[in-house]
Amino acid sequence: MSDPDCLFCKIVAGEIPADKVGETEHTVAFRDINPQAPTHVLVIPKVHQPDIGSLAAAEPEAAVALLVEAERVARDEGTGSFRLVFNTGADAFQTVFHCHGHVLSGRSLTWPPG
Ligand code: 5GP
Ligand code: ZN
Repeated sequence: MSDPDCLFCKIVAGEIPADKVGETEHTVAFRDINPQAPTHVLVIPKVHQPDIGSLAAAEPEAAVALLVEAERVARDEGTGSFRLVFNTGADAFQTVFHCHGHVLSGRSLTWPPG
C-alpha cells in the first residue's frame, strides 16, 4: 500500500511538506515544485502504485477518483481548460514512480507535446 522509500508516499503520510490544494478519501492534490504552467498540480492516489495502468488494474476506484479530482482541480485552480498528463516510464520522463497526473492549466498549451 505504501513504500517507505517513495517521495510521494511521504507526502501522503505528511512526512514531507507539500502545498496541498485538496485531499479526498483516495487522493492528494498538491502544487508541483517546478511548475510548467500557471496552474500545475499533481494529483496522486494515496496507495502506492507506480503508474496509472497499474493503479487502474489494482485499484479502479482510486483511478476514477483521481480523474474526478483532476477535473475539480482544473476547474477550481485553473481555467477549466486543462491538460492531464501521465508520464509513464523513464523514456516518457517519469521521474517519480508513484502514479501522478499532472494538471496543467492557466495558459495556452501547445500541441503536440515534446
Ligand atoms: P514526472 O517527471 O515523474 O512525470 O513528474 C514528477 C514531478 O514531481 C515533477 O514535475 C517534479 O517537479 C515534481 N516533484 C518532484 N519532487 C517534488 C517534491 O518534493 N514536491 C513537489 N511538490 N513536487 C515534486
Ligand atoms: Zn509511493
